[in-house]
Amino acid sequence: MIKDALHQQWLDDVDAYLEGRTTPQELETKGQSRAREVLDYVQERSAFYAGHLRSQAGSPSALPALDGVPFTTKDDLRCVGRSVCSLPFDQIAVYYETTGTTGLPTPCPRAAIDVETSGAYVQKAVADLYQSTFGTTNALTAIMGPSELYAFGDTYGEVCRNLGIPYVRLWPESPRVGLAKAAQLISDLGVRSLICSPAVALALARLYVSQGIDPRETAVGQIMVLGELCTPQMLSNIARVWNAHCTHGLYGSQEAHAVATGCANGNLHFSETNYLAEILPVPGMEGDVGELCLTMLVPGAKPLIRYRTGDLARLHSAEECGCGNRSRCLRVFGRVGDVMTLGGRQVVPALIESAVLGAAEWVSGYEVKIRTASDGSDHVEVSMVAGIGERSVAQVQEQMASQFGTSVQLQLEQSLDPRTETGAYISWKHARIRDQRESAL
Ligand SMILES: [Zn+2]
Repeated sequence: MIKDALHQQWLDDVDAYLEGRTTPQELETKGQSRAREVLDYVQERSAFYAGHLRSQAGSPSALPALDGVPFTTKDDLRCVGRSVCSLPFDQIAVYYETTGTTGLPTPCPRAAIDVETSGAYVQKAVADLYQSTFGTTNALTAIMGPSELYAFGDTYGEVCRNLGIPYVRLWPESPRVGLAKAAQLISDLGVRSLICSPAVALALARLYVSQGIDPRETAVGQIMVLGELCTPQMLSNIARVWNAHCTHGLYGSQEAHAVATGCANGNLHFSETNYLAEILPVPGMEGDVGELCLTMLVPGAKPLIRYRTGDLARLHSAEECGCGNRSRCLRVFGRVGDVMTLGGRQVVPALIESAVLGAAEWVSGYEVKIRTASDGSDHVEVSMVAGIGERSVAQVQEQMASQFGTSVQLQLEQSLDPRTETGAYISWKHARIRDQRESAL
C-alpha cells in the first residue's frame, strides 16, 4: 500500500520520538498544532462532530488548542453509533467493537495510520521488555485475549511477527479453547511469556495448583497484564505466584487504542505523540488524581476529541520511573464510577486491591463484599485464596481493618469459584469488589 504524505509524516514523527530525537519543546508545539488539525479533520468528516463541536457548550481547558471545546462522553458514543467515525468503512484497515458489557457496543474501526502509530509504541515496549527479561526475542509467547472482536490479539500478534517473537493465540473464553486447554498448551509447548488480564493470570495459576502443578515450576518467565485495573501490589503478587517478571502490557481501550505501555519497572508510559491528555478534577479526589480525558491526535478512522475515559488517573514525570523511557508515567486507579465511601472516607478501587494484596504473602484470587452491619456501619468481607505465612487470620484481618477504617471479616478459601478451576469458564474481567450496601443500590 502506498502511504500518503501525511501518513508517512506521522510514522516518521512517532519513530523520531521513540528514538529520542524529539525535544520536549517540539513535542509540545506539535501537539498543539495537531490538536487544531484534528479538530478540523473530525468536523469535516464525522457527522457527529460536525454538529457536536458547534452546538455544545464548550469547557475550559489548560491546553490552548482545546480551550472551549466540548467533551465527548461514553454516553455520546453509545447514542451516535457509526456517525462518530471520520472514515467510511471501505477506507478502514480493520473493524472492532466494544464488548458492550457496560451498554450498547460501539463501533471501533481503525485505519492503517491508527494501527501503525499505536502499534509503534507497543512494539517498542515489547522489544525493550523481551531484551530486559530474556535478552532475546526467542521466547514463545501466549496471547490470551477475550474475543476475536478485540484489537488486542491483533496488536500483539503483529508486534510479535514484526519482532520475530514466536507466539500462540489462546482464547481462554472461547468454547473451542477454554482455560484447561490453554493451561495444557502453555505447559506442553513450554510457553515463556504470557500476555493476558490479571484475572486470567491468577485463574491459570489456581488451575495449575488444583492439578498439582506449581506455576513457579513452569517455563513462564514473564507476564504482561492488561485489560483491567492492576495495582503495583497486583503486579508483584502475580510475579510471586508465578516466579516471573510481571508488568503492564498496555493501558488503553478499543476506543482509544494503546494509550500507555508498560516498562520493566512496572510503570505505564504515556504514548505522548498520539494524544493530548487532561486530568479533569473529580470531587473529593486528592492532589492531581482525576478523570483521564484524551484527545486523539492521529487523523484516522475515529479520532475522539476530549474523550472522558471514565478512568481515574494521575500523570507524573518520566524521571520518577528511571527506566530511560522519556514519556510521562500514567497511574490508573480504577473507574470514576467505582469510587465509594468506606468508613466515612472516599476510596478508589485501587486502594481496596492494594490493601487486600498487601496484607498477604501471595493471593491467587480474592473477592471483596461491602455490607452494612447491624449498627449501620460499613463492614467488609474478604474471601481469598492466599498464603499468609506465619501470621494468624486475626492479625491479617486487623491489618485490613486499619486500612479500610471498617470492621473486616476474612475468609481463607481453597477456591473462589469452582467454574474457574474446571476451566469451563473464565471471565476476562472479573468483578472482584461488590458493594452490597443498601445505600449503594
Ligand atoms: Zn519506566
